[in-house]
Amino acid sequence: MQFKIHVIDVKNQLQNYIWLIEDSQSHDVVAIDPTEASLVEDYCLEHQLNLKQIWLTHWHKDHIGGVPELIADHNIPVYGPRAELSHIPFITYPLQHDDQFEFHGLNIDIISVPGHTLGHVVYFIDALDSVFCGDTLFAMGCGRMFEGTAEQFYHSLNRLAALPPRTKVYCTHEYTLSNAQFALHIEPANRAIQQRAEEIKQLREHGKITLPSTIELELETNPFLRVESAEEFARIRALKDHF
Ligand SMILES: [Zn+2]
Repeated sequence: MQFKIHVIDVKNQLQNYIWLIEDSQSHDVVAIDPTEASLVEDYCLEHQLNLKQIWLTHWHKDHIGGVPELIADHNIPVYGPRAELSHIPFITYPLQHDDQFEFHGLNIDIISVPGHTLGHVVYFIDALDSVFCGDTLFAMGCGRMFEGTAEQFYHSLNRLAALPPRTKVYCTHEYTLSNAQFALHIEPANRAIQQRAEEIKQLREHGKITLPSTIELELETNPFLRVESAEEFARIRALKDHF
């Protein structure tokens, strides 16, 4: 396999993860949503990786916080949502829905997913069966609806649900345990949810990461992908906000 995916556990209160994609021949890497520059710098130094690109999913501070320092130290391009340029002025490659670009022969497809923020984009890589989806889809949950409407968010999640079932889901936060509890509350009799909730509990008790997930697993166990209308989505999103 030419490409390898690394994770940095930020160990902050928001439980962010920074994902890195490495081209194992050149050891060149992409950093996705770098919360803190020093964590990325230290990790690259330790593993002898060369930071070559930064990809951003949306403008929230815990996703872009490390960028100014990283681009001051490395002369590298920053990819991110065109619709959020006013929030993220240091984007050098503004992206919108259906855009494509390349990293060492890897094709990346941009999917626009408004809801958590209005400009939120995700990075789908067919060749790696992977989607880097920021705060839109979480394992057994989804991001808070800060800027978009329920209609938009529902449509965005449908776009992700339509990806190949084998697609690995790399989201940004370790919220799976509390999401599992909410999923059980919504669908107490769902065996797949019961089983996964137990697995998640075990993983977290041992301090292990619960990601990546897959689209297939999310279709079976994520209540936000299992709703059948924007109204139903709005109802459970509101319930989750006060859970
Ligand atoms: Zn966010």
